Amino acid sequence: MVKYEKPEVFEVKATRCQRCGGILLSEFGLKNGMGHVCKRKADAEAAAQEIDENQLTLFGDEKEAENEEGVI
Ligand SMILES: [Zn+2]
Repeated sequence: MVKYEKPEVFEVKATRCQRCGGILLSEFGLKNGMGHVCKRKADAEAAAQEIDENQLTLFGDEKEAENEEGVI
């Protein structure tokens, strides 16, 4: 009969991306409150807001913003 040892229980810090709601476990996510994908887009959007809104934007497909990072 196989005898298993007592399971080792980990405690990890996690947060949710403020932009897509994905679970973030990475240092980057915990520090910035969003994953690297969303952070890049958020930064780009913030920069774009300072530009004339009639100009072309870099973000065409909004659908990909939904939980694009998943669990990282
Ligand atoms: Zn995200």
